Amino acid sequence: MEFTLEEMREHLAALEARISDACKIAGRSRDSVKLVWVSKFHPAEAVENAIALGATDFGENRVQEAELKFSEPRMAKDGSRVRCHVIGPVQSNKLKKAAIVADCIHSIASIEAVEKLEKVCAAQDKTLDILFQVNAGEEETKSGLDVHEAEAFLADLEKRAGAATADGKSENFPHLRFRGLMTIGKNTGVAEDSRECFAFLRALQQKFLAKGGAFAHFDQLSMGMTGDLEVAIEEGSTMIRVGTALFGERDYSK
Ligand SMILES: *Cc1c(COP(=O)(O)O)cnc(C)c1O
Repeated sequence: MEFTLEEMREHLAALEARISDACKIAGRSRDSVKLVWVSKFHPAEAVENAIALGATDFGENRVQEAELKFSEPRMAKDGSRVRCHVIGPVQSNKLKKAAIVADCIHSIASIEAVEKLEKVCAAQDKTLDILFQVNAGEEETKSGLDVHEAEAFLADLEKRAGAATADGKSENFPHLRFRGLMTIGKNTGVAEDSRECFAFLRALQQKFLAKGGAFAHFDQLSMGMTGDLEVAIEEGSTMIRVGTALFGERDYSK
């Protein structure tokens, strides 16, 4: 059963209290953490309810589901256009569709994907924000860059990107903006267990942000979900991806 609008309003209030408390503890402003509503496995009506409650950013795992819900532009309550984040791994043959529907893809983990996205976005005359997923939790089933290879990957990307353009893009990937890093914490049920991998991600992101050039906009850290968002905020997350706490349990049988 999907939540009603009223139920969702209560869940949002409880979540906002968690976010505010975590921001207070971390000495950060609430504005510094974006809430991405992870609507995967929930119907379009749930998205409508979320928009009525002020949601501006949605996350979907699967490209086809993102297309179903977000191909038609929607307006947020604040008058901005609703943004779609693709947060799940994208197969090579789905990258084109992902680039078209998404405002931001969080799960990029290869040079081939970067090159393909540049081509697609050039053809669409579109600028796309991308984040690189790092398997900082070091779990076999999770996709993303190997934690030991992520730094070398970014250094290689920096070389391939060439000089920075005035608007913070790069000579060789002028339709992409490298925005930062994403990870999924350790799935142990204990939020504290993710602290180390979140801290690792932040250190890596800060290192490349400091380089400037093609990394001038590398200021985003997508980390923290329903179970570990407080720890993620304390460790510098700028985008938390929250599904269950807002929409309830997902029905995977659908
Ligand atoms: C499903 C999913 C989420 C949301 O997880 P919840 O625990 O329901 O908040 C966040 N990030 C990714 C990559 C996901 O696949």
